[in-house]
Amino acid sequence: MSDQAFYSALQTKLDTLRTEGLFKPERVIASRQGAEVVAEDGRTLINMCANNYLGLSGDPETQKAAEAALQKYGYGLSSVRFICGTQTVHKELERKLSEFLGTEDTILYAAAFDANGGVFEPLFDENDAIISDALNHASIIDGIRLCKAARYRYANNDMADLEKQLIAATEAGKRHKIIVTDGAFSMDGTIAKLDEIVALAEKYGALTMIDESHATGFMGKRGRGTHEHFNVMGKIDIITGTLGKALGGAMGGFTSGRKEVIETLRQKSRPYLFSNSLAPMIAGASLAVLDRISKSTELRDRLHENTAYFRREIERIGFTIKPGTHPVVPVMLFDAPVAQKFAARMFELGVLLSGFFYPVVPMGQARVRVQLSAAHTREQLDTVLKAFEQAGRELGILNNN
Ligand SMILES: *Cc1c(COP(=O)(O)O)cnc(C)c1O
Repeated sequence: MSDQAFYSALQTKLDTLRTEGLFKPERVIASRQGAEVVAEDGRTLINMCANNYLGLSGDPETQKAAEAALQKYGYGLSSVRFICGTQTVHKELERKLSEFLGTEDTILYAAAFDANGGVFEPLFDENDAIISDALNHASIIDGIRLCKAARYRYANNDMADLEKQLIAATEAGKRHKIIVTDGAFSMDGTIAKLDEIVALAEKYGALTMIDESHATGFMGKRGRGTHEHFNVMGKIDIITGTLGKALGGAMGGFTSGRKEVIETLRQKSRPYLFSNSLAPMIAGASLAVLDRISKSTELRDRLHENTAYFRREIERIGFTIKPGTHPVVPVMLFDAPVAQKFAARMFELGVLLSGFFYPVVPMGQARVRVQLSAAHTREQLDTVLKAFEQAGRELGILNNN
């Protein structure tokens, strides 16, 4: 407490964030997660900004499965996996995830952030090359930083640039090359061109890795992910993902792939070796979620119907969106203050969504982001669309006729 200058410097930086409009306040919710949430002040809001794609976060069946696992396995383990923190429920979930994803084996983590943070360093060294999409998630970027492999970056989803980087890594004489991409990009709702990526990987003898945090559970015919969507199941070397979005929404992550890879991670991956076991109730609930979405595509189908409806109607009203099919729908407003005002007005109109502007998205690409869920009813979506129309007219984004 003797270095007052340290605290003053922090305060100055925080003040700068506020004046630049980059400070992130936290919205406090007084209810469970869902298509509607109750704000602290008691107002009910339609929630359009959760990663709750299948609507399972606040779902009673998910809760019941968690309660059953809580009853059977207790609250926690006070141990890492390899000392005394592995229960049958963890092994069952790892088997089930492997089966679901079409891989040989899976390793659980406390978060996908840890899965990505702990995947590169045990598998690659200075003789190898990691070729990474420029818009990959922060946890991939951090994971790559922790590893000594040479780094190559390609422009987002740009296959010509990816090939250029593959050639550069090959010419540099790199031993192993791995292409790494988010399966779906959360800011734009764009989907990685996995078919082309796999073809390039085959051409240059590279490995492939996808982060399926915004895909597992709902992309592809049976919700297996981006690899199913592009019909390249079995051709991806490493899959990471989260249990904290579509698959129930509590927390937890995983890495899945060939057994040699997963066994190596169990021996060497630092976030696995030096961090606590996933809570058994989360493992139990995740198992029930995987069972439920393996038996029926109902939730996935409803999500995609909601997405198609919203995408069509928001364009019909006159808004510009990034084209696509993913339940992340960026509604483009282009101007940062407009995006901020828009999100604030939508909040007053009872709709929860978030605005994004530079530097989170490129300059001139300010937007509000809508995320659809299977839990949204048509009525709720119509209410949201009406609010969009009203706010759009008030702020002069839509013509007033
Ligand atoms: C959300 C997200 C993560 C982190 O997931 P957690 O399980 O919450 O740590 C990692 N990668 C991507 C692409 C994500 O969107």
